[in-house]
Amino acid sequence: MKIVLFGPPGVGKGSQARFLSQREGVKHISTGELLRKAIRSKTSLGRKAQQYVESGRLVPGVLVRALAEDSIRENGFDRFVLDGYPRTIEQAEWLDEFLKAAGTKLDVVLSLQVPAEVIIDRLSKRRVNKQTGENYHLDFKPPPPDVPAHLIIQRKDDMPEAILHRLEIYHEETHPVQAWYRDRGMLQEINGGDSFEDVYERIRAAVLASSQTS
Ligand code: ADP
Repeated sequence: MKIVLFGPPGVGKGSQARFLSQREGVKHISTGELLRKAIRSKTSLGRKAQQYVESGRLVPGVLVRALAEDSIRENGFDRFVLDGYPRTIEQAEWLDEFLKAAGTKLDVVLSLQVPAEVIIDRLSKRRVNKQTGENYHLDFKPPPPDVPAHLIIQRKDDMPEAILHRLEIYHEETHPVQAWYRDRGMLQEINGGDSFEDVYERIRAAVLASSQTS
């Protein structure tokens, strides 16, 4: 199982990837989470990346490439779900070369799609438990009352200004990656606008089918 979950910010790829990893035992590799961890730990990479992440801009590719490749190497090349990487055509080419050099390739790229207004609602109402990383939504999945309020935060890049940047960047730089994979026969589109469980079932079915054929 070598999968990329692809889609705009707020489409739900992080939550779906986490669930898939728990259920199917694939390693979840989220460059966004790796970057936020580096920022919290104030590593030199974290210091370089902080401004970009918090304002909703792409971190320079070479930094993210190292994070993603190190993580794949550590977790093995067999079972991973990438979330948030690749985000540019350059990164897609790097990933392709990296896997090729290890004698392997992706099984499938699953592109999650939801209408733009749903995305803005999900991002602006998202809250995160800063200790566990668990995500909530103010309307659909509010933080439980037993979690202390000071642990529930809004990500800086979920503020309105940064959301706009992220969506703009997605359209300019990340969306073209979808066509890149489509041209190579690797893309499968998944409707992400229904309930979490329905979307998960579609993802699981696509993943199982692609792992069998490759
Ligand atoms: P989302 O998909 O909701 O935007 P992520 O947690 O995946 O959130 O990413 C958060 C931020 O981390 C991005 O806005 C960007 O600044 C940085 N980032 C993550 N992955 C990459 C990447 N592949 N290339 C460049 N920047 C990245």
